[in-house]
Amino acid sequence: MLHLHDTATGTVVPLELRSEGKVSMYVCGPTVYDLPHIGHGRMSLVFDVLRRYLLFTGLDVHYVSNVTDVDDNIIRRAAEQGRTEPEVAAEFEARWWEAMDALGVLRPDDTPHATAYVDDMVALVADLLARGVAYQTSDGVYLDVSQIDGYGLLARQSLESLRAGARVEANEEKRSPLDFALWKGAKEGEPSWDAPFGTGRPGWHTECVVMSLDLLGDGFDLHGGGQDLAFPHHENERAQAVAEGRPFARHWVHNGWVVVGGEKMSKSLGNFTSLTDLLARADARAYRLLVVRSHYRSPIEVTTETIADAEGALGRLDALARRFDLGDLIAESGRGYVVEGDVPDADPDALAAFRRRMDDDLDTPGALADIFELVTAAHSAADAHDEEGGCRLARTAALLAAALGLPLRAGEGAVDDETARLVTERDEARKAKDFARADALRDELVALGWTVEDTPTGTAVHR
Ligand SMILES: [Zn+2]
Repeated sequence: MLHLHDTATGTVVPLELRSEGKVSMYVCGPTVYDLPHIGHGRMSLVFDVLRRYLLFTGLDVHYVSNVTDVDDNIIRRAAEQGRTEPEVAAEFEARWWEAMDALGVLRPDDTPHATAYVDDMVALVADLLARGVAYQTSDGVYLDVSQIDGYGLLARQSLESLRAGARVEANEEKRSPLDFALWKGAKEGEPSWDAPFGTGRPGWHTECVVMSLDLLGDGFDLHGGGQDLAFPHHENERAQAVAEGRPFARHWVHNGWVVVGGEKMSKSLGNFTSLTDLLARADARAYRLLVVRSHYRSPIEVTTETIADAEGALGRLDALARRFDLGDLIAESGRGYVVEGDVPDADPDALAAFRRRMDDDLDTPGALADIFELVTAAHSAADAHDEEGGCRLARTAALLAAALGLPLRAGEGAVDDETARLVTERDEARKAKDFARADALRDELVALGWTVEDTPTGTAVHR
């Protein structure tokens, strides 16, 4: 059984499902006013890996992820560019899906848009006012968090300590700096909707609670996002459900930070400025590999060097596909993901080990290390003329890599044998400090169309 860390308790607990065999999950999606950044990519990959693993084990998954298409940033961007908010939102939503498709992130089953849910949000705000947990000010409607049982659960802090740490409130009408906007009163030139409590637009925290409960129902299984969303966004979503007396998410999952090139993100340092930029310059599978190489709650560092290193590891998987003539199991499945039975003769011990790793709070680094051991074992078996045994291990490795969303590629984009030979030769030349030879080999690789990088584990090449 899958055990996951639950932010609400700070412990790793079994994922107890609302109904047997079915998983309902909500993951906060993008606010579409700019190119997706690298942190968005990690978050999407982490929850894609979780979703793929649930599917792999035979569970039925209902995955919902929203698009915030009205917000301060979108309004500001539209004003800067002399465009309408829907134009800005449509453009950056398209860029978002381009990046997600390139990463091999499965599309959500439902993608609710905030602007399509305004009526439901108005109804919720009206009800919270009627219950006396919300109050009106001259600029909108706020939730009074002092009335919410257990406020601070996801911050893992009491209301008192949150209050002590809160910024000084500029808005004198707010009862507490922790109170948050459910509804923002209309301003000149901004998109707005009519409501009994005044024309305006919904707050972000109201959007997610309304859409998740509408599409997944009370007490859905899992709510996720980056760790920066736990407080205040998720706390505030939960507060509204509590005020309504509705059971909310049973389990809270948050992934760790991304560090891009140390403390600073800079083009001049050769690091990646956006996810779109990264995907233009590297094999998208390398970013996934880099993400699964670390535990989802640990920080990861994304630099040209760590990406090139991941591309090198990917090269080992692709080399396996070439030697054993393995195809792309994800594409072959016809459903976009693999399940355990897709390779009927897969090694049972390796499958059991994979499940043990993944059930242990998604130990993807351990699972990946096991996959690379299978790769080595497959080559050794084939070297010892056990073609059949080698092939079975290779197919098992391909299945487990595919379960993490990593398809193997024997063909285009993959490192061919000639390139692999030049890379090995160059690493040997560098080891022998024959830098003239190493430089000549680099030139040969560049002439073949490769970008060559020196990484801690040797030469890495990518298109
Ligand atoms: Zn959200």
